[in-house]
Amino acid sequence: MRFAIISDIHSNLEALTAALEVIDAQSVDEIVCLGDIVGYGANPNECVALIRERCTIVVKGNHDAATLDLSVADGFSENARIAAQWTAKSLSTESKNFLMMLPLVATKDDVLFVHASPVDPPDWNYIFSVFDAMEAFKAFSQRICFIGHSHAPGVFSEKGRMGRITKDDRFIINVGSIGQPRDGNPLLSFGIFDTDAWSYKNFRGDYDRATAAEKIMNAGLPRALAERLYEGL
Ligand code: ZN
Repeated sequence: MRFAIISDIHSNLEALTAALEVIDAQSVDEIVCLGDIVGYGANPNECVALIRERCTIVVKGNHDAATLDLSVADGFSENARIAAQWTAKSLSTESKNFLMMLPLVATKDDVLFVHASPVDPPDWNYIFSVFDAMEAFKAFSQRICFIGHSHAPGVFSEKGRMGRITKDDRFIINVGSIGQPRDGNPLLSFGIFDTDAWSYKNFRGDYDRATAAEKIMNAGLPRALAERLYEGL
């Protein structure tokens, strides 16, 4: 089985459409979404509809939760809070109902899918460092845990090894962000995991960020949310 794993779409329809085109050319069996379908960008309903149509497994992100319960956005930065309020007003009942029923975690064979961290999923903890990852390895039993949330792609090995994934080790893999990469590289990011070959590959790709940015401006969302798409921050 070949899984494409996408995360942190953040209502960026141009990036999501471009990612799906690359995925469709990669003969993938299923697509998994690790949440944060909405928040920041200008096309929340369109992105929810596409995820609903194309993904077999979807888990909830903190920005999805924030549009359903704005108190979740209390800890957000000002621009993120403004975007959450805008998204809450813009989402259709149908989109909200879909987000509402999403689980916080999902499993498939020996793989765990969660938006932020396997450590207390509703607390939305970040895994930035090797030390964060070491703590997180204790919180799940599967061999691989796929995450998003930090918008920075990366692979953590339990044994501290570098390089490719192997069957005698456990891994936490951050697939990066489709709609708002933050690792200094503005290219969209996602991963493909092959369960037969037990291999993982990160993909980066370009998309029409000028249109995505223009839509953010036209929607009256903060200008910084458009500018960061060019910076990858
Ligand atoms: Zn996010």
